[in-house]
Amino acid sequence: MQKAISRFAPSPTGYIHIGNIRSAIYPYLLAKKTGGKFILRIEDTDQARFVSGATDLILETLKWLGLDWDEGPEVGGEHGPYFQSQRKELYQKYALALMKKGRAYADPTPSEKIDEYRKSDNEKKIPFLYRNHRPSDSELEKLSKNWTEGTPIRFRSDPKPRSWHDEVMGDLSAGPEVQDDIILIKKDGLPTYNFAHIIDDFEMKVTHVMRGVEYLSSTPNYLALYEALDFPIPKFVSLPHILAPTGNKKLGKRDGAKSVTEYRADGVLPEALLNYLACLGWNDGTEKEIYSKAELIDAFSLDRVQNSGARFDEVKISWYNGQWIRKLVAEEGIDAFYPRTLEFWGEEAKNFPDEYKKKVLGIIFDRLKVLSDLREMTAYFFVAPAINLDLVLGNKFLKKLSETELASLLELSVSELEKIPEENWNAETLQNTLNSLLEKSGKKPAELFSLIRLALSFAPFSPALNLTLEVLGRETSLARLRAVKIAILSDQQ
Ligand code: GLU
Repeated sequence: MQKAISRFAPSPTGYIHIGNIRSAIYPYLLAKKTGGKFILRIEDTDQARFVSGATDLILETLKWLGLDWDEGPEVGGEHGPYFQSQRKELYQKYALALMKKGRAYADPTPSEKIDEYRKSDNEKKIPFLYRNHRPSDSELEKLSKNWTEGTPIRFRSDPKPRSWHDEVMGDLSAGPEVQDDIILIKKDGLPTYNFAHIIDDFEMKVTHVMRGVEYLSSTPNYLALYEALDFPIPKFVSLPHILAPTGNKKLGKRDGAKSVTEYRADGVLPEALLNYLACLGWNDGTEKEIYSKAELIDAFSLDRVQNSGARFDEVKISWYNGQWIRKLVAEEGIDAFYPRTLEFWGEEAKNFPDEYKKKVLGIIFDRLKVLSDLREMTAYFFVAPAINLDLVLGNKFLKKLSETELASLLELSVSELEKIPEENWNAETLQNTLNSLLEKSGKKPAELFSLIRLALSFAPFSPALNLTLEVLGRETSLARLRAVKIAILSDQQ
């Protein structure tokens, strides 16, 4: 298997869209699978789009997802620097070499003039191609010889039919009509994406150029550049867009897709997000859905990356997360999982000891989907819930019972549970008592247990009753049952 040298080349623009981060996952998996290298390169040459702090966010997000890079910021490497803004001389050197060969030129045309060309071509209904307006060779020659920063450098295109292979999209071809004199070096002396990435991929010995499918239409221009520069052509791997939940459009912020930072803040685990995104547009041909990072590396292959867009599904992220919570608790235990939950407990849990919170977590984790649900799901373990008799009287199992019956059922429950001394207040004894309560009351489990459950939690769901009672403790449990009984009695007056 060829060792793949792949890269993730984000622009530090602040917001990390989940579609963008998927463009890091596949290159990472391919590099690891083949024993190659995964490079991180920061494409920060577009000063207008630059957002301060954005690079840190990228590094932090990749680390959080476990996508550690072999070369790049912080770790270094033999092909650095890994910030394009620090490689300006290199791009200029290549651009000057192209000028020397007659394959590029310094272009003095002011942007207003270019706008005019565009406008008049539009009016004539012909496609705007700058090469049709290229200044005459005699005009260009002098300028190109004495080039200084401040004048853009353009490629002298060589339009002809071009065909190439894309590892995901298959065999492709395009005619000369899409090839143009693209800008290589801008007015500010920095390169365009179109030029810089080609130089960097070559210098960094990248074998697989993996990126979003939006660059496909520019590939003929890139092929012309590889040719003019005498660079070998890397493998192209175009990754299809992630589609919005409905319709046939690319997923955008407006479709409810959050940034990676927001999913993290919601309590989506990195394992789950990595798993979800990797499987969004790739599968190994089996029904398997849950993959650890190591399993993904093992199973990954480029030929199973789909060539059509996969649909984004927020519910599925929660599903993956729930699965991962259960998997991690099963594998590592509650003690090891607990630190991941620390920031998600509510204010009301603040003064409770870790040991108590671990017990709560231990009985609720299997219902948890995202960690930010923890607060609402567990509030009643820390503060007495507000008594809401409507929930009791309107409950589908309790509707048939009168308030007198409900109050005496609670009375009976208190008197039976009270018999358990503090030191025996555990799940097993509690279950035995609940069973005998069923017999004594002659009620159905759904009736008796719904009543006790509601009186303890006033929550739509709670874990098994004996476990809830055990964790809440004897004193709190009995106090809550008594309080609800009194509330029902006073409601009757
Ligand atoms: N800097 C480009 C972007 O953020 C990356 C394109 C590429 O991977 O080559 O969209």
